[in-house]
Amino acid sequence: MLFEPVALGPVTARNRFFQVPHCNGMGHRDPTAHAVMRGVKAEGGWAVVCTEEVDFHPDSDTSGFVEGRLWDDDDIPMHERLVAQVHAHGSLAGIEFVHNGMASANLYGRIPPAGPSHLPVKGYEPIQARAMTHEDIAELRRRHRAAVRRALTVGYDLVYVYAAHNLSTFQHFLSPWSNLRDDDYGGSLANRARLLREVLEDTREECAGRAAVACRIVVDELHGADGIQRGDMDPLFELIGELPDVWDVMVGVWEDDSLPSRFGHEAWTEEHFRGIKQLTSKPVVGVGRLTSPDTMVRLVRSGVLDLIGAARPSIADPFLPVKVEEGRLEDIRECIGCNVCVTGDWTMTPIRCTQNPSMGEEWRRDWHPERFRPRGSDAKILVVGGGPAGLEAAMALGKRGYEVTLAEATRELGGRVLHEARLPGLAAWIRVVDYRRGQLAKLPNVEVALESNVSADEVLEYGFDHVAVATGSRWRADGVGRAHRRAIPLHGIDVLTPDGLFAGGRPAGERVVLFDDDHYYLGGALAELLASEGHRVTLVTPGALVSEWTVNTMEQRRIHRRLVEAGVELVTSHDLVGVSEDRAELVSTLTDRPASLPIESLVLVTARIPDDALARSLGATAIGDALAPGTIASAVWDGRRYAEELDAPSRGGELPFRREVVRLAL
Ligand code: ADP
Ligand code: SF4
Repeated sequence: MLFEPVALGPVTARNRFFQVPHCNGMGHRDPTAHAVMRGVKAEGGWAVVCTEEVDFHPDSDTSGFVEGRLWDDDDIPMHERLVAQVHAHGSLAGIEFVHNGMASANLYGRIPPAGPSHLPVKGYEPIQARAMTHEDIAELRRRHRAAVRRALTVGYDLVYVYAAHNLSTFQHFLSPWSNLRDDDYGGSLANRARLLREVLEDTREECAGRAAVACRIVVDELHGADGIQRGDMDPLFELIGELPDVWDVMVGVWEDDSLPSRFGHEAWTEEHFRGIKQLTSKPVVGVGRLTSPDTMVRLVRSGVLDLIGAARPSIADPFLPVKVEEGRLEDIRECIGCNVCVTGDWTMTPIRCTQNPSMGEEWRRDWHPERFRPRGSDAKILVVGGGPAGLEAAMALGKRGYEVTLAEATRELGGRVLHEARLPGLAAWIRVVDYRRGQLAKLPNVEVALESNVSADEVLEYGFDHVAVATGSRWRADGVGRAHRRAIPLHGIDVLTPDGLFAGGRPAGERVVLFDDDHYYLGGALAELLASEGHRVTLVTPGALVSEWTVNTMEQRRIHRRLVEAGVELVTSHDLVGVSEDRAELVSTLTDRPASLPIESLVLVTARIPDDALARSLGATAIGDALAPGTIASAVWDGRRYAEELDAPSRGGELPFRREVVRLAL
């Protein structure tokens, strides 16, 4: 049933797989890379493939984020390229227009932002949005209409009216959280919904049956009675339920919508979506990190959704629909819910994905999620180490047709992922290993040798043509890292590192200080683990926030909350400068004032040392953490890079990838 066509007003989706709009850090800066990425999704069977949010006038731009742009006719060609890529594979192309309004400080356009009321803009940018007049509202409607006409000129099949994620003026008007007006656009639900209704009517009129109208709506802002609540949908749908051709529903803000697996299970949104479909005759699409065909079928059968919405599952596996259709469920590269993909947007760089190293590299480097360039020689290749880098390298080399041996010292493939996936909330991460182990088992030209701790002499004896060393890294036990470039004085204290904990070691004492100078998830996850095992844990970090980098994965607030709930004491903006007897000596990174804490055991999560001895003694290529310790995503990516660059034809020029250079104005 997932492959039944679904009518979306004047157009028809060829199946129920719907790639909802998602950011990608490429947008208007890397238009060809963006277009080709969307084309690969269409090739992989997504019946509808959408852009990210696209701003349509400099009075409300999405800067500094790199999103889509359709300001005037000069922006049309890059959209035409995207639509052509999507159409080439028989899919429908959708565009999501956005008027950020009070969600944007409008840093690029500099035009004072405007919204329903005089209120500060989102974040802490020291600027307020001004309340829109009736003339402003009329002008916004006129511009939105012009944008819709341009979208039709481009050839888009589906045009969004966006009222979700707290990112859109139409939502800001709808919500009592942001609409404090007392005119005919404020107060009652009908008044607050007026602008959304008008824009839906405008968009219908402009589309006039040439394209479908989608409406993305927040069904609960999670502000309680101060905001839009699920109960408001019944009267709202009575007003506007039949205006769009398809409803795209979501919950909360982006942090909620893209809930990491650490904090929520697949289809967690179901309870919020149930009953929406019954309020309208139009089809409904929604997301929930849906990767399991059984869950998808259940959601359709039980009348929750008509179309399976996906951003992350389509990023991790652009070919998910094709694989379901062909019954190749074991080939699905399931999203692990780590939110590395969203870091591309937050860091304004091309999207990346832990599971799918080709994401964002489709045009730039010619990497494809499923197709691999055939091998350039009969070379025999040894990959040492079966962590994420070695697994990906062996798999990609195997798919290229090389004869590959993957040697792993332990009894199990997986490296660091085996250990990290056992931490609280991270179970889904094991999919990084499961997918690759499954693929390797299908490749007769790849031999996996477990319990094979290979030495340099052995490698030389075997006579491989190429050796890739993916032996990983180990955590330092001396405190060296970002804050310290020399060892911290640690006298007579029981010291553990993540490696020691993964190997089963546990703090000898009850009072544990965990010093997190890594700032990603691991310090927080280990603190949570030790607290759950009964230790009194204090997490000390030089960062202003715990697990500070997870701001970029949109997990930071939830991590903080979970640590507090687990009873972990949090000491931020403090450096660990030494341990003497039973006190940990700290210094404030802000005031230099000393402080101290009782301590029995110390856990250091600071920096890692590559395990590259084998690579160095062989003069072989180190990849992944053995080259430069980083994320699981970067190790997977580096494994793919090794496999791609072997026998790669020269690109000419100095650069390792293509880029798009702006044409200078005359
Ligand atoms: P990465 O993230 O770069 O893939 P990991 O630390 O996850 O690195 O994985 C490294 C893997 O290499 C581990 O599974 C480890 O057991 C294995 N390994 C380390 N040294 C050797 C060796 N000499 N021979 C075979 N396997 C090794
Ligand atoms: Fe899923 Fe992580 Fe890939 Fe994002 S980066 S799509 S969350 S696996």
